[in-house]
Amino acid sequence: MGLLLPRLFLENITFLTPEMLQRRGISALALDVDNTLARPKIKTPFPGVCDWLVGMKAAGIKLVIVSNALPKRVRPLAEDLGLPFISLACKPFPIALFRAEKKLGAGRKQLALAGDQVFTDTLAAKLAGVFSVLVRPGVPEKHWIYRLKRQLESRIIKRYVVNQKKNRF
Ligand SMILES: [Mg+2]
Repeated sequence: MGLLLPRLFLENITFLTPEMLQRRGISALALDVDNTLARPKIKTPFPGVCDWLVGMKAAGIKLVIVSNALPKRVRPLAEDLGLPFISLACKPFPIALFRAEKKLGAGRKQLALAGDQVFTDTLAAKLAGVFSVLVRPGVPEKHWIYRLKRQLESRIIKRYVVNQKKNRF
């Protein structure tokens, strides 16, 4: 379970502030695309994402997109947002995060990965030894595999919430 439990869970990516990262010594952020920055297959990001990216960049957080999707999906969005990218990332394998560290000149302690899927994003972050941020998916998927995954994820999120409460008291 430890490998699947995110370090931080947020309602959406724009809830993540530079301060949340910086106080943990994190200066670089890898970002998933589908259901984290934008609706699957849609090039326009979710509302608020562009402004949020401006704030992150202004605070000196180095950014890179790390997506399992094909280059033809990732490139146009990355170019629009002015971000470097790694496509076909093969998350949950950690290899793309090692590449992200190199690309951004950050060690694993300075890097975080934010994404919407426990079994790809959170697990990849854990395996790479980088800080994991899980966000609620922007839109629900219809395919049964995703619905099953989301059910399992909701258990993990409940566990996260319980742990947070324990730590608080
Ligand atoms: Mg995703």
